[in-house]
Amino acid sequence: MFDSLSDRLGTVFDRLRGRGALSEQDVRDAMREVRVALLEADVALPVVRRFIDAVTEKAIGQDVLRSVTPGQQVVKIVDDELVDMLGGTEVEGLTLDAKPPVVIMMVGLQGSGKTTTTAKLGKLLKEKHGKKALMASLDVNRPAAQEQLAVLGEQISVATLPIVQGQQPVDIARRAMDAAKLQAADILLLDTAGRLHVDEALMAEMKAVASVSTPTEVLLVVDSLTGQDAVNVAQSFSGEVPLTGVVLTRMDGDARGGAALSMRYVTGKPIKFAGTGEKLDAIEAFDPKRVAGRILGMGDVVSLVEKAAATINEEDAEAMARKMAKGQFDLDDLRMQLKQMQNMGGLGALAGMMPGMKKAKAALASSDMDDKVLIHMDAIIGSMTAKERANPALLNAKRKKRVAAGSGTQVQEVNKVLKMHQEMARAMKQIKKMGGLKGLGALFG
Ligand code: GDP
Repeated sequence: MFDSLSDRLGTVFDRLRGRGALSEQDVRDAMREVRVALLEADVALPVVRRFIDAVTEKAIGQDVLRSVTPGQQVVKIVDDELVDMLGGTEVEGLTLDAKPPVVIMMVGLQGSGKTTTTAKLGKLLKEKHGKKALMASLDVNRPAAQEQLAVLGEQISVATLPIVQGQQPVDIARRAMDAAKLQAADILLLDTAGRLHVDEALMAEMKAVASVSTPTEVLLVVDSLTGQDAVNVAQSFSGEVPLTGVVLTRMDGDARGGAALSMRYVTGKPIKFAGTGEKLDAIEAFDPKRVAGRILGMGDVVSLVEKAAATINEEDAEAMARKMAKGQFDLDDLRMQLKQMQNMGGLGALAGMMPGMKKAKAALASSDMDDKVLIHMDAIIGSMTAKERANPALLNAKRKKRVAAGSGTQVQEVNKVLKMHQEMARAMKQIKKMGGLKGLGALFG
């Protein structure tokens, strides 16, 4: 899914993240590449424009570029905007709590996957929501369409309306309403007729069916492989029938993602489900966050930035920033950073996030550092006096021995902590010299 788009974006952002500092021009150059990638993925032009503008403004407008991890910050901004483009952080489900039978009307062009999706929803509603559903095909145009639904219904053990040859769609809809009430079905799924193109007769039929069945949901089924055409079809339909959502089929084969990325903005309608295969359980609730994650393929970076933002206590960060601004960094500060590392999921998760950690990390790696060591280090610092923490130079051999004994460790370990502190203090001084870092807060956007 979205492989080609994902590859293109991956290349751009890997390059951005690989650099220590970013200039405004770097961001603009990257955005030019992203723009081309999105257009090649068949995303609608206005959507591309809005996206690029929003990302550029956020990336160069805040303290992002001056932060210590600008590449990561930009990835997070892109991820946020992708989520927004795909419909926001909420997963838009079906409204099922109306008075039964809740009618779900399926509309769309022929071959879009409408009948298959009807059956997929029937199965999903039965198995995941414990609903009793009745399915009815109103497709009198396509030969054997009604039989197709009956066969699928049998496969998934969901009832279908018995076929009466020659009956017209509106009459079938009425009969289906009566049958659903009689059977005390919770849900009635109406699989309407498709056409090869959007035309007046089709729209008139959809309106007539909607007026007799008063659907709670009108779901448009479109083929994601058709890209912009899918979006155009959705626009034509939404002008005529009150669509409540879109189902994008064949997402399993969609390498580009243009339909998914344009649909919400162009039509204003949420994508509620994605079809991901021919099997009847190949349907997923459309979750913009997950889909954005798949497109960008950088979920770990995004969650790390999110975690960091959630973990860093603002007061602590400000206090730290003030000290760093003065070029001070004592063992209490080191201890606080170690705590934050633990909170953020340990050293592994933290690679590259902390200021000046590159060198210190190398020192850690050579000492078989694992997360248990964080706890030891905390104990070591905890065994020092406040004076020693503020001024590590006080720690002579005798004092080191006392600290090692107090923390149940060895003098070598105490030395490692002191060495790490020196590395970090030096890094902090460098940052101060660069004059770039406004504060630790800036690090986390
Ligand atoms: P309708 O004319 O709109 O009712 O289309 P159908 O439901 O008959 O589907 C047409 C073809 O598309 C069938 O072969 C389905 O198996 C296939 N299909 C439907 N949805 C998906 C999907 O999400 N992924 C894949 N790979 N195939 C699908």
